Amino acid sequence: MTEAETSNDATASDFIRDIVRDDIAAGRHTEVVTRFPPEPNGYLHIGHAKSICLNFTIAQEFGGRCHLRFDDTNPTREEQEYIAAIEDDVRWLGFDWGDHVYHASDNFEQLYQWAEHLIETGKAYVDDLSVEEIRDYRGSLTEPGRDSPHRDRPVAENLDLFRRMRAGEYPDGARVLRAKIDMAAGNMNLRDPVLYRILHAAHPRTGSDWCIYPNYDFAHGQCDAIEGITHSLCTLEFADHRPLYDWLLDSLPVPVRPRQYEFSRLNLGHTVLSKRRLTELVSDGRVNGWDDPRMPTLAGLRRRGVPAAAIRDFIGRLAITKSDGVVEMAMLEHCVRELLNVEAPRRMAVLRPLKVVIENYPEGDAEELAAVNNPNDPDAGSRMVPFSRELYIERDDFMEDPPKKFFRLAPGREVRLRYAYFITCHEVIKDAAGEVVELRCSYDPATKGGNAPDGRKVKATLHWVSAAHATAAEVRLYDHLFQREDPGAEGDFLADLNPASLECLVGCQLEPSLADLRPGETVQFERLGYFCADPDTKPEQPVLGRTLGLRDSWAKIKGQGGRG
Ligand code: ATP
Ligand code: MG
Repeated sequence: MTEAETSNDATASDFIRDIVRDDIAAGRHTEVVTRFPPEPNGYLHIGHAKSICLNFTIAQEFGGRCHLRFDDTNPTREEQEYIAAIEDDVRWLGFDWGDHVYHASDNFEQLYQWAEHLIETGKAYVDDLSVEEIRDYRGSLTEPGRDSPHRDRPVAENLDLFRRMRAGEYPDGARVLRAKIDMAAGNMNLRDPVLYRILHAAHPRTGSDWCIYPNYDFAHGQCDAIEGITHSLCTLEFADHRPLYDWLLDSLPVPVRPRQYEFSRLNLGHTVLSKRRLTELVSDGRVNGWDDPRMPTLAGLRRRGVPAAAIRDFIGRLAITKSDGVVEMAMLEHCVRELLNVEAPRRMAVLRPLKVVIENYPEGDAEELAAVNNPNDPDAGSRMVPFSRELYIERDDFMEDPPKKFFRLAPGREVRLRYAYFITCHEVIKDAAGEVVELRCSYDPATKGGNAPDGRKVKATLHWVSAAHATAAEVRLYDHLFQREDPGAEGDFLADLNPASLECLVGCQLEPSLADLRPGETVQFERLGYFCADPDTKPEQPVLGRTLGLRDSWAKIKGQGGRG
């Protein structure tokens, strides 16, 4: 099943945009204000990109604004490192919140005052039950809950206890503040949900000012109201929380009345998009950090060489609906290839080198041959690549005893070296173990540029580099992080990790123009794929990672013809 659409319509329309359009037409709002509300307890992943793109582009399309709000109500789990990373990633993705960065913690005093307001209006009470007892009293989907023995405490007693909670008189877990709604409600979220808990923990922003903290439900809608959010967009799992969201806003003297709308979250095949699981991969050392290029985090994708524009394009093709589905990784890859095919300059590199000696090429000689930078972009021009007597070709491009369908180099056979000459293999040199270590070949000087004047054809064109001029590099090849499309569907998700998701090749040989690649630069190695210079690159020692191979399985799935 897939929620993907095949076209990317510039005049996007979906049920949320329809709602916003209607609200404006009906005069319910003059300005659209949305927000992206990450909890700073991990790095952003491509699922978050769906929410970011939706919130920011709706604000842009309707001339409004989008806030970045850190949902920092959980002091023990949140870290400053994550706040900085989230800001970097949203900016990298191409969005700007201007001055509108907020923190739920900025509103702790207001939220506290509103909690007292609920108590004063008889809509909240302090409960002494333990967490376990509260769970026990809550009932189940088939059984109503039971009232807490403290449910009918007088207002004055509740106020006194809540103030003493704030003052730090009780240990963690001794008491909570609960909304007084309905212990028999069909929606479990309305069975007197907890609003505040005691937590003697320092907060990154408010320090030791507080020892009681509001939970997500009590903070979220009220922060929306304080910021003047008109449309509070979130994923479907919050649909069951909407009645509570509405109950709280309707019970409090809030300045504006936001509305919550839910849309389907992005699920992507062959990876996981849960912060809990991603955190586990990082803390268990299953990957090399949050920005490991195999991770579905924005930091990982960026390091992998995935352009932000390709992610925006991908997200723009997703349906914004109310039904969850799984999108194939191949669709994201298709968007990446479509963009890099236009933008990435072509270069030659040999990943698994096999030495070729051109016996009739004068020793010590070299020449420069013109190579096209990008066949899709005439303005990209050409560059010169050196050719000489000793070259490297790809080990895979030679077979001593080729089967029928192998058209590349073999003894006695002629092939084209891209931008250079036709060569013919005459002799195979092996080491003591019988492994091929060198080919002795001849070239035809009349085929300079790669065409024979007598019109004779060859069946293969190979990439190559001149041995004396090449730069050695490390190249990392990535594969899906998980073997299964649905990791964890049958047990522990860690058991589905792909043991071959990373292959490091050393001694790769690059054409000399690649010697000073800067980290983040992406090129297409002819016939091999797209590669991005990794931050591990050192002067004179490039490290590249393969963003993707050239083969586009999504285009095939969609019948657009692959690039093969
Ligand atoms: P997780 O469930 O992985 O812990 P989260 O939803 O708790 O993630 P938040 O930082 O709270 O992470 O998410 C910020 C916003 O991003 C929320 O509005 C959430 O709905 C949205 N979001 C998170 N994951 C996805 C996803 N896979 N697709 C679309 N939106 C998402
Ligand atoms: Mg969340």
